Amino acid sequence: MLCCDKEEAMSLKVNAKIVIVGCGISGIAAAHRLVKAGFHHVRIVEATARSGGRIKTGSLGDNIIEIGANWIHGPSEENPVFCLARQYGLLDPEALTPENQAMDIGGHPPWVPNVFTSSGRKLNIEDVAPAVEMFAELLEQSSEFQSQGGEPYASMGDFIRSEVRRQAAEKWKDVDAAAISTRLHVVSNLLKVECCVNGSHSMDDVGLGAFGLYKTLPGLDCTFPGGYEGLIKNLMSELPGGLVTYNQPVQCVHWSNTEKRENPVEIECEAGERITADHVIITVPLGYLKKHHSTLFRPPLPLHKLHSVQRLGFGTNNKIFVEFDSPWWDADCEVIYYLWEDEDAMVDQVPDIQRSWIKKLFGFTVLKPTERYGHILCGWIAGHESEYMETLSEQEVMQGVTQLIRRFTGNPTITPRRILRSQWFHDPWTCGSYTYPGRGCSLQDLENMMEPLPTKTSQAQPLQVLFAGEATHPCYYSTVHGALLSGWREADRLISHYSSISPSELPRSKL
Ligand SMILES: Cc1cc2nc3c(=O)[nH]c(=O)nc-3n(C[C@H](O)[C@H](O)[C@H](O)COP(=O)(O)OP(=O)(O)OC[C@H]3O[C@@H](n4cnc5c(N)ncnc54)[C@H](O)[C@@H]3O)c2cc1C
Repeated sequence: MLCCDKEEAMSLKVNAKIVIVGCGISGIAAAHRLVKAGFHHVRIVEATARSGGRIKTGSLGDNIIEIGANWIHGPSEENPVFCLARQYGLLDPEALTPENQAMDIGGHPPWVPNVFTSSGRKLNIEDVAPAVEMFAELLEQSSEFQSQGGEPYASMGDFIRSEVRRQAAEKWKDVDAAAISTRLHVVSNLLKVECCVNGSHSMDDVGLGAFGLYKTLPGLDCTFPGGYEGLIKNLMSELPGGLVTYNQPVQCVHWSNTEKRENPVEIECEAGERITADHVIITVPLGYLKKHHSTLFRPPLPLHKLHSVQRLGFGTNNKIFVEFDSPWWDADCEVIYYLWEDEDAMVDQVPDIQRSWIKKLFGFTVLKPTERYGHILCGWIAGHESEYMETLSEQEVMQGVTQLIRRFTGNPTITPRRILRSQWFHDPWTCGSYTYPGRGCSLQDLENMMEPLPTKTSQAQPLQVLFAGEATHPCYYSTVHGALLSGWREADRLISHYSSISPSELPRSKL
């Protein structure tokens, strides 16, 4: 009898129909794990014509550029993206060295900067270092509020501004007014950098307590010399052909909160196709969920899950790649920062977005090595200013960037050869860039995000709708490794469900 049940459970596993919505890294990772574990009926349904989602490699002239994910954050043994990239031979030798893996940078690589002001001055490191150091210490301290369980300030932005004001009055009391003003403009610039790192409009939108939920891994961030999409291509080549249906947006997932029935989930596609399944793994971005949750689920998401979708932040961070015939920055420069001397001190929002959106661009990172990329800079701009930038023509963006560079360098002849920018906010299947913990968020919100439906209290068939994707990882949200781990996690949830299945849990039709 027991043997028969076991056999039945095994055949249930093999025959279980699993649909994954979204062919980004989390969907691919889930499919990989399930297929490897012996599930025969796994299918990915993807809205666009391509795999990879927010991993998207493009080109500017003859050069490879990353329109989406850029770095492996924390490339070391604990990072599965690093381990896979190493296994597939996708990394430069320096990234593989034990020294690189051991470097603990706490999420902020020690880049060599060039700093320019709006009056065309190039600053010395000594002019900016005190503010940079103070800012770095505050970021480190802010992580502690998570474990201390208190939020003495309204947001990360409020904390940083208040503490800089307090510490400046104490530590910089003998410094002259002009130098203090420069330091406060450095703080504005670093707040704009943090908006890009977090994908938020302002650091005033980022929760102080929850900021420390994000964990970094050791290792100096590295890139994929042949493009991040190499990782996608390698993973896809190991999946059975035909597993992905492209150009098939899912419109509604019908699940059951009340009854036990065979194939309890029905996935309704925009084109009209209806796919029945035992389980569906949803990997659509949080931005898409925020916009479409009310039509994407029938019945709708339970309130606690919906509130977490709303509370968690999902903002925009875009890149503007700019190519030049020759460099106008120092040979060793890795990042260029811009300080607006006409701005109020310590601001990370622009008052008149249409006229002054460019003020939100914190600066550029330099694509290295030069022998590989030539002279390409990558500009970074977050928030509503970035969303507005997406609506401009490429020509208008090029004009804005050219004026900016000419003004800050004092060199009116600098002319970019060409540019290319990302437009993640207006991407209908992403609706922004990545997740950050908004004000009032806690670990519970990320746990609610990953909770399957129906919830434990229901009598209906368990694990009908599962949730993966970067926004569901408790400490690596916003990253590729977080997304990948979330896909594995949900695959493992199904694998352990089927390995522990007991006769009482078999669907009614099978009893
Ligand atoms: C500008 C930018 C820079 C970044 N830089 C880094 C970095 O340097 N390092 C790093 O680790 N991370 C970075 N990230 C984040 C990283 O790219 C993401 O965390 C990760 O790729 C998300 O994977 P995912 O599978 O969760 O989602 P996605 O890759 O977004 O996949 C979701 C998929 O779902 C599809 N979809 C959406 N709606 C539907 C629907 N209705 N029906 C069917 N399919 C649908 C989408 O088309 C997409 O293919 C960056 C992201 C951006 C935007």
